[in-house]
Amino acid sequence: MITVIAQSARIARTISYALGADFEYNGYYANEKYFITWTYGHMVELSAPGMGRDFWLSNQSFPILPESFPLTHAPSQHASGRYMPDPQLAVIKHLLEKSRKVILATDPTERGDLMAGYLLRFLNFEGKVVRVALNDLMHETIKNAITYPSDNISGFADNLRQLELYDRMDWLTNLNINRAIAFSVGRNTYPVSRTSLPILHLVAEREKAIKEFSPKKSVIPTITVRDSDGGVFSFRCSDEWDDIPEGFNEAVKAGAPVEVVSIETEQVDTKSPKLLNIEELQKMAALHFGMDPLETYLIARGLYEKKRISFPGSSRAGLIRRDFDDFKKDVYPAMCNAKCFKSLMGDNYSPYYTTSAKSLYNRPHGIVLTAFPFVGLSDDERKIIYLVGRGMLATFQRSFRRNVTKVTLACGGYTFIAKYVKVVRTGWVRLFDDTIKSSRAVPNVEIGQSLTVESVGEIGRTTKQPVPMVDFTLLKTALSLHEPDCRENVVKDIRYLRSRGYLHRNLAGEYSLTEKGQSLAYVTRDMKIASADDIKFWDSAVYQAATDQLPESVFNDILHKYVTDVTNELLASHKLSKPMGVEEVCPKCGHGKMRIFGKIAKCNNPECGHYIHRQIQGVTLSSREIHNLLSIGSTSTIRGFIGADGKPFAGKVTLDDNHSPIVIQVSK
Ligand SMILES: [Zn+2]
Repeated sequence: MITVIAQSARIARTISYALGADFEYNGYYANEKYFITWTYGHMVELSAPGMGRDFWLSNQSFPILPESFPLTHAPSQHASGRYMPDPQLAVIKHLLEKSRKVILATDPTERGDLMAGYLLRFLNFEGKVVRVALNDLMHETIKNAITYPSDNISGFADNLRQLELYDRMDWLTNLNINRAIAFSVGRNTYPVSRTSLPILHLVAEREKAIKEFSPKKSVIPTITVRDSDGGVFSFRCSDEWDDIPEGFNEAVKAGAPVEVVSIETEQVDTKSPKLLNIEELQKMAALHFGMDPLETYLIARGLYEKKRISFPGSSRAGLIRRDFDDFKKDVYPAMCNAKCFKSLMGDNYSPYYTTSAKSLYNRPHGIVLTAFPFVGLSDDERKIIYLVGRGMLATFQRSFRRNVTKVTLACGGYTFIAKYVKVVRTGWVRLFDDTIKSSRAVPNVEIGQSLTVESVGEIGRTTKQPVPMVDFTLLKTALSLHEPDCRENVVKDIRYLRSRGYLHRNLAGEYSLTEKGQSLAYVTRDMKIASADDIKFWDSAVYQAATDQLPESVFNDILHKYVTDVTNELLASHKLSKPMGVEEVCPKCGHGKMRIFGKIAKCNNPECGHYIHRQIQGVTLSSREIHNLLSIGSTSTIRGFIGADGKPFAGKVTLDDNHSPIVIQVSK
């Protein structure tokens, strides 16, 4: 048998219709060839050896850096108890035992890849694996994808390795920083995640900029001249100043000589935009309809399951010829009958298979309409259909072409410029702006010609107060923190900040920090964990490790150092916990003071930053023992250390050559 795993029960049912699998059982469908079952997305996750339920209470050492990451079942809403596996896991396991081959038809996303990979490994499936992308849920698409799957499993495996490294990095970082905060201020007080903190700071910085804003004025001088035909043309100075510089009014005044320095004409061609992906759709929906990005995702996802649009993923690739022909034959004529699209298209629109729209391979592509018309949809669904349809109409349209002429004048040692645009072809732009006109004619002048200043004027400018972040700006800025291939979770990160009560979004879609958000931003400001630059660093480090440009051992070393640094920074934050007791001189740099916090002693010299974790081999050093260690180099005998063999022993703590604590066993 062949087991097909879908992303949801609803999609499994659609697939069962397409494959004629009429037998319905508990948790799956079947015919004589296929079992069709489903996951609930997140069913299996990373864990670490020895991390049971009471781990948080029993283990006080920092940071936790396990060597291996076994998989475990995730908490489930469908199970009878909180720590019980999801019952669907047993269904899938049972089906896999009877199958020689599995077809992974889960969401064609990174998350879909990772969850499918984890699931098969957790269930020890050793047969043949095929990954298929269901670009849409039309019966024809499903039948083709499942019956003639292209063998792309090596691409899937490569991608999986990168996703696993990424997941492991996130897991390790988030586990340690959350434990550090929990031990400092209490469990679940400030849950945080590596990729969401910098987004919180984007909003914090914007709020600061609004508060501290003071307007700045500047001025750009202008002149007018007459061309050979007597027409008057205005030019603006290439400089912008706070104040007009001394001598300018002497040199540039009515009657002053002007020379034509250059006349340059170039043709500018802007290709039609690529198809929308989910991020672009979210930005458009926020911009035009004030829709919350998460809501947009859920609506788009629903429209995919209703077979109205193709999968709302991150690809912006084009269509293969056959799909474009199908669009022209089936969907396009229906669009022509809808008022909203007809008014966009005007009278002489016809779709072109442009370079922006083209693909040679049948792979995940940008979002397209798969069926029409607007019947049986909610208002919000119609808005999404409209945006997707408009995006398609733009993609299947020729470039926006115009001639731009730039005329440069010199007067009194200053440069003055004017640009003139002549539209050659409106192309796709007419779908967005029907007011585009050519600017007026280019002045009739020649290079080297002498003119005279007719009049002098100026354009005054005042900087505007920044406005609060809204869905569109926050999403756009947050997406730009990541490398292009690593943007899938940005909406989830924003959602996380809202659900944890750090960010508030008002009805106008404006974001502000809550009181709790302000506290977290205050605590983490200037910390490494909140650094926006580190996000891109790790995006590319993971990619390099997954493609063997960076040895995995080196990757692990820098990851461990990063996790240790960000954890120590939180543990030794005086904003989170007060340092206690008397301070001793740092054994490493010799002039910083070691400040003792709950779980760590850390040098306050920022260039040194030497630290000593207070927990060592199962014993937490008291502040008196830390003092002895730092002042006389050794503690007195302490009982209760746990040896590598698991047996308790007595010992003294001293410092090694790196000034880090080690335990010396004391013989009985
Ligand atoms: Zn020091």
